[in-house]
Amino acid sequence: MKREEMIARLEDHQGPWDMVFVGGGATGVAGALDAASRGYEVLLVEQSDFGKATSSRSTKLVHGGVRYLQQGNLPLVMEALHERGIMRQNAPHLVHDLGFVVPNYTWWEAPFYGIGMKVYDMLAGRYGFGRSRVLSIQETVERIPTIALEGLRGGVAYYDGQFDDARMLLNMAQTAAEQGATLVNYMKVVALTKSGEGFVDGVVTHDLESGTEHTIQAKVVINCTGPFADELRRMNDPEARGMIAGSTGVHVVLDGSFLSGDNAIMVPRTADGRVLFAIPWYDKVLLGTTDVPTKNFTMEPWPTQEEVDFILENAEGYLDRSPTRDDILSVFSGIRPLVKAADDANTSQISRDHTISVTKSGLVTIAGGKWTTCRHMAEDLIDNAMIVADLEPQPCVTQQLRIHGYHRYADKFGDLEPYGSDAPAIKDSLRRHPELREKLHPRLKAVAGQVEWAVRMEMARTVDDVLARRTRSLLFDAKAAIEAAPEVARLMAAELGKNEAWAAEQVKSFEAIAKRYLVSEAVPADPR
Ligand SMILES: Cc1cc2nc3c(=O)[nH]c(=O)nc-3n(C[C@H](O)[C@H](O)[C@H](O)COP(=O)(O)OP(=O)(O)OC[C@H]3O[C@@H](n4cnc5c(N)ncnc54)[C@H](O)[C@@H]3O)c2cc1C
Repeated sequence: MKREEMIARLEDHQGPWDMVFVGGGATGVAGALDAASRGYEVLLVEQSDFGKATSSRSTKLVHGGVRYLQQGNLPLVMEALHERGIMRQNAPHLVHDLGFVVPNYTWWEAPFYGIGMKVYDMLAGRYGFGRSRVLSIQETVERIPTIALEGLRGGVAYYDGQFDDARMLLNMAQTAAEQGATLVNYMKVVALTKSGEGFVDGVVTHDLESGTEHTIQAKVVINCTGPFADELRRMNDPEARGMIAGSTGVHVVLDGSFLSGDNAIMVPRTADGRVLFAIPWYDKVLLGTTDVPTKNFTMEPWPTQEEVDFILENAEGYLDRSPTRDDILSVFSGIRPLVKAADDANTSQISRDHTISVTKSGLVTIAGGKWTTCRHMAEDLIDNAMIVADLEPQPCVTQQLRIHGYHRYADKFGDLEPYGSDAPAIKDSLRRHPELREKLHPRLKAVAGQVEWAVRMEMARTVDDVLARRTRSLLFDAKAAIEAAPEVARLMAAELGKNEAWAAEQVKSFEAIAKRYLVSEAVPADPR
């Protein structure tokens, strides 16, 4: 994917697009992929980088959602378990089975969660990832050698899936482009256009790189802007009632030694009833997440001290070495775009089901849902959008559509495994140019060649794109990422033909973003 080519496709296009998607997160990209693979003429515009908002800040689980089982939302759990299987089938280079242990410290937990997990197995049916079972103390310790031993009575084992959200999104965008979709990043929708009869018939976009404005015609405009969905709905109708209830979720990242072994810990009920995960991810551990209502919808939410403290305090009871603030390598926050319920005080109780709404003027909005279910959400969305656009109906084909990078044995590519079938080309380039094997920082695994690849093949435009989403370095170690920024800016400037002033500006703006991933900078509380 090259931005210049995407802009050329956009400018060459004659007449209205069948569908224009606003927002390049999981929901928009899955929608564009579904529509393009049905043969429709598709344009997607994203105001920042693909996945910059919520879709790169998830817990990285492809899961049915044990929490929704507790809430009794069986249809959502079944849908998600089914989609979990499809995602692993279509992107095996990115979706991996992960063993979980629910540790038991009271007598009732083993039978209670043991039965719950059997229901989870049953709902997964033939899409199951492995059978759950009750574990003895010794088996629990074998799976989680660093678990807190005091009072431990055993555990319950079950299986779910894990992935790299930002890379999955990029691979889905590449697949959509291969199916003929045009996807442009750093292009913001600033207005909607309407026909004489008052129907939404296009968008006005602002190119954040060139400053150019485009007026683009569409048979249907689809609002996939996640937490920002109400902003776009108000471009259509300034009086539109808000439909989004935001909920922030914070994760902290620790060194992998805090959770040795390959299994994750799932605590179904913390002190205040929320779920807590400790998950091995690459060679690190993700601890999270919180679920706090917010009205402060921003692209870079600040993690709060309150949330970090909640995570550390609750992790203390389950890990034999209690993590402290000094152990935190990075902390990140994302906003769940949930659809408002009548009483939205407690966001952890709001359904994760998706909602599709169509205004009288024909603006389609999709919100809610989960990363895991985005393929199914897209199928539902396009089934509706093709009617609004008055298009010849075409069947959905994404259940069997392989995602870019598909490779069943990608683990043989070592650190380049997440690139799947792209890995051999990157390896070739590293072999030919030894300077590309230079690490970006002694504490980071990413090398110079990945920066070159990200710019040439993955539409990376800024230092933040490379360090936060193409290599995940900012999540692995925020300080190291800040220190690596000048070298990344230098490499990118050479690739993009930019000057030193551009590189210096990039470093400055990356530092402003990356500060938010340092625990020392966490704000006392959300300014809600
Ligand atoms: C903390 C947390 C943990 C989670 N964990 C999981 C998990 O483990 N598994 C799971 O299945 N789900 C998980 N989820 C849910 C999942 O991440 C979200 O449902 C999903 O990412 C939402 O994607 P989206 O595309 O709707 O929104 P977003 O990813 O926010 O995308 C919306 C996009 O619209 C763009 N945009 C906004 N306005 C404009 C405009 N005017 N013009 C152009 N573009 C615009 C934004 O820049 C943004 O990129 C989690 C969510 C959170 C917050």
